[in-house]
Amino acid sequence: MSSAAKPAAACPVCGKPGEAAYAPFCSRRCADIDLGRWLKGGYVIPGRPEDDTDKGPATPSGKDEPPES
Ligand SMILES: [Zn+2]
Repeated sequence: MSSAAKPAAACPVCGKPGEAAYAPFCSRRCADIDLGRWLKGGYVIPGRPEDDTDKGPATPSGKDEPPES
């Protein structure tokens, strides 16, 4: 605890040691890249069932029907 107090976190974009001025990124460029990803929607939550909304009634019937007995 004398000079460098802040532990450099790895840049989430390129993995380099982050710079305090651009934390948590290593440079302004990486910060811009990350921001660009956000704006473009690069950070989409995986596993969203939003893929079938465009296909319409393409699901094969027979699975949702109750058993006839
Ligand atoms: Zn970086």
